[in-house]
Amino acid sequence: MSICRFISQEETHKPILLPHLQSVILGRGPETTIKDKKCSREQVELKADCSKGFVIVKQLGANPTSIDSEMVGQGKEVLMKPGQLLHFVNAMYPYTVKFTENPSSCKRPHDTSSNEKEGCPDVPSVKTAKKTEQSPRPVKTQVSKENVGHWSQGLKTSMHDPNMQVYKDDKVVVIKDKYPKARYHWLVLPWESIPSLKALRDEHCSLVKHMHQVADQMVKQCPHAKSLNFRSGYHAIPSMSHVHLHVISQDFDSPCLKNKKHWNSFTTDYFIQSQDVIHMLETDGKVTVKEGTSEMLKLPLRCHICQKELPTIPALKQHLKSHLSAESTTSDAT
Ligand code: AMP
Ligand code: ZN
Repeated sequence: MSICRFISQEETHKPILLPHLQSVILGRGPETTIKDKKCSREQVELKADCSKGFVIVKQLGANPTSIDSEMVGQGKEVLMKPGQLLHFVNAMYPYTVKFTENPSSCKRPHDTSSNEKEGCPDVPSVKTAKKTEQSPRPVKTQVSKENVGHWSQGLKTSMHDPNMQVYKDDKVVVIKDKYPKARYHWLVLPWESIPSLKALRDEHCSLVKHMHQVADQMVKQCPHAKSLNFRSGYHAIPSMSHVHLHVISQDFDSPCLKNKKHWNSFTTDYFIQSQDVIHMLETDGKVTVKEGTSEMLKLPLRCHICQKELPTIPALKQHLKSHLSAESTTSDAT
């Protein structure tokens, strides 16, 4: 029988295994890494039917869970199939389901050594117990601490991987973003172990300036530097550990850009420009993130060029095409 996995499209944690016909409750907490208070601790109950290839989704929380933009409704159940997109709460936190055939080549999900096997994607350690007459409540999943740590530490692995590196010197390394949100998307990381923006102090000023210069160099050497705009900056609240400067072309033409959170993280003040970080370090000796910054991820989708509001990501992507061709034509002509 196939194996079912519930997969965060934002890659904020590893896929969650949904055992055949066993209820799994997910919500705000470590399994999903969703910290949004609008999400209940018990937001959805999922039951996979691995022989039929679907998952029964029941909304437990008060705020809406949706599948392909159709609200489920509190206490209601809806079938979800591969190819459909579930938003955990309030049109945020997208998930898909995947059924993988021929699981015999994979070890049990409890065995983390199976995670690196080809064709057997990362599966968090999931503890489940069978429903019994005495314990009618469905079981909750638990993800082991090692696995929760794993995804957020990914940049530390990538920065040392020669296949990911595109530039390095004695202070910094530049890697390609593994899930680029535009045609060009690099990350500049210092070799020095600095966990995040919050840990930056005035003594890091010259390092951060160097990161900025390297970012500028990356843009200059890009073959499309003339026809594309670029911005360099930091996410106010990063999800990955080890401070990293995003250098990203402003076409946002990428299949990895999938949701509102992705969009708003690069086009609102959630994206703190590299120059502003340098300025804060020079004047205050630290970087201050304004209160309520995380709310920016929920803002309506707005074109970063003409400010037009678009209802959905596909509509936004379609709209962006018009700017791209206009931009290319203008810059090609100059
Ligand atoms: P943030 O922490 O929000 O500033 O963004 C982290 C960035 O790292 C995202 O743009 C991801 O696409 C990217 N990313 C996630 N995992 C990896 C990885 N293992 N190697 C390289 N880039 C990654
Ligand atoms: Zn526009």
